[in-house]
Amino acid sequence: MTSETQKPLSGDELVALTKKHSLYEWSAQSKVDPIPVARSKGIHFWTPEGKRFVDFNSQLMSVNIGHGDERVVRAIQDQVAKLAYANPFMATEPRARLGAKLAEITPGDIDVFFFTNAGAEANENAVKLARQFTGRHKILARYRSYHGATAGAISLTGDPRRWAAEPGMAGVVHVLDPYHGIQRGWDDTATALANLEETIQLEGPQTIAGFILETVTGTNGILVPPDGYLQGVRDLCTKYGILMICDEVMAGFGRTGEWFAVDHWKVVPDLLTMAKGLTASYVPLGAVGMRRHIAEHFKDKVFYGGLTYNSHPVGCAAALATIGVYQEDRLIERARSTGAVMKQLLAQLAAKHPSVGAARSIGLFGLVELVRSRKTLEPMAPFNGTSEEMQALGRFFRQEGLYTMVRWNTFFTNPPLVITEAQLREAFEIIDRGLEITDRAV
Ligand code: PLP
Repeated sequence: MTSETQKPLSGDELVALTKKHSLYEWSAQSKVDPIPVARSKGIHFWTPEGKRFVDFNSQLMSVNIGHGDERVVRAIQDQVAKLAYANPFMATEPRARLGAKLAEITPGDIDVFFFTNAGAEANENAVKLARQFTGRHKILARYRSYHGATAGAISLTGDPRRWAAEPGMAGVVHVLDPYHGIQRGWDDTATALANLEETIQLEGPQTIAGFILETVTGTNGILVPPDGYLQGVRDLCTKYGILMICDEVMAGFGRTGEWFAVDHWKVVPDLLTMAKGLTASYVPLGAVGMRRHIAEHFKDKVFYGGLTYNSHPVGCAAALATIGVYQEDRLIERARSTGAVMKQLLAQLAAKHPSVGAARSIGLFGLVELVRSRKTLEPMAPFNGTSEEMQALGRFFRQEGLYTMVRWNTFFTNPPLVITEAQLREAFEIIDRGLEITDRAV
């Protein structure tokens, strides 16, 4: 390397060079305006020029323990030095210990894990497991859901991100969720469950392998299921021999104030998928947890699935250390108590700002939904689109050094679980000022 290439790039150079040679995710390239990032620590990250941002989205709702935790960094360094890679047919210490640790914290009799590279791949393997276990082929999923962007997982996804990938994986059937009740404050659990059961009957129960759902829906709007919904789904799945697959890629690992969101309702799914918070995204790793009887099925039958990097020792070591951090620093409890403060702050925003149509949260998993009218709930930007007001709000947050995801007519409030109450209040003060922009459009 020449000394010229070693010189750190300025923020502008970094953005220009990155844009020149890489295709940005989910974007028209001319519209991409990335924040240059040089380093991060705790709830903050910095540009090369030293502008500081509060990471109010934990990057992709994933850096739950905060940035740069030395315990995880050291575990990764030690593992790379000792055994950077072993193929998935081997047995390694981090994989062995991680499985045992996850068995302690996952619900019910989920105690066997298939380790993947990320969330989408965990969901794809959950589909394979369900199909091979039941001998059936259809998978039910919900319209307001996101399950990943690989060819199979994007078919499971119900929202408009699916459209460009169609025709997708065969055998996926979408159903409705209790969204309208969640948004408008009435209970439509019975309607959603009736729709699910009718769909099961119309599709033929003997053809349906699994029903995949986000326990708490993330990117489609932090939709917390009404009490009774998950139990109702559990009962229908049991009644028809369909595997209940809970996608906790985003909701898992303390985000909602429990290890897993299903713990709030004491429901045990047959398969539980995870990623993101599993390693706090320091390195990639995902997993499918399965109940013992499902694992038993593969005792004498081959499970057809596996990639070169599955059960990667560095990922497993990082996950083990990350789980240690959640436990040592009592981050699940912290998410619960700081989450209670966030709920109050969200309620204050809703009371003050006419453009806030709804402000929902569970733990430190929150979202503000912006509307032009509270009466009609006309969104501030169309579903799957944007508007001048939402763009202006995004620019304001960026200028003020608050990073969060502004998407459609919503923005998220998902800080790392290590955020203090004072830091949380500071961030909400910026949000409070920003909402004056959208209030003008009411
Ligand atoms: N499932 C849910 C609920 C998610 O939110 C995501 C990512 O945002 C995924 C699956 C896909 O995970 P990954 O991007 O790690 O493949």
